[in-house]
Amino acid sequence: MQCPNCQHSDSRVLESRSTEAGQSIRRRRECLRCKHRFTTYERIEFVPVTVIKRDGKRESFDRSKLLRGIVRSCEKTGISQRRLEVLVAEIEAQLQQRFGREVTSNEIGELVLQYLREESEVAYVRFASVYRKFQGIRDFVETLDDLKGDTTLIDSSTINETALTEAQEKETPASVMTGS
Ligand SMILES: [Zn+2]
Repeated sequence: MQCPNCQHSDSRVLESRSTEAGQSIRRRRECLRCKHRFTTYERIEFVPVTVIKRDGKRESFDRSKLLRGIVRSCEKTGISQRRLEVLVAEIEAQLQQRFGREVTSNEIGELVLQYLREESEVAYVRFASVYRKFQGIRDFVETLDDLKGDTTLIDSSTINETALTEAQEKETPASVMTGS
């Protein structure tokens, strides 16, 4: 990024901040030559994402629908609405970068779980119970064991390739995503 003061092409980043609910990144930069400080904004190029539902129907990815599903799972967990909006924006950004134009509702569900795992165990289990259609207490116990067994925090910038492949193979309902 060229310095607006001396046109030098190298600068260092002093601070990066997420703005507009995660849709853009604001960076404070300092020119390596003249020390002039300036601000740049980075945003994701918009790519429309198509969701393939379990019944094979296609629909446009609907951020507010996904947010509603997540908000339900996060009631009384202390996670702010604002935080959830950022989370959904991050998920949308992931989808746009990783899958191009099409993504199954299963993949979205598993992606949400990876994010919720970092935020709240309660929200994680609640979302999983709806999304994976838990049949009984055993499903809850297995999910909790699963949580305990993996204490590694997931870096949101490096979503696990294997987990996504596994997600595709799982029989999972799309009720969370379709809002039914
Ligand atoms: Zn400069």
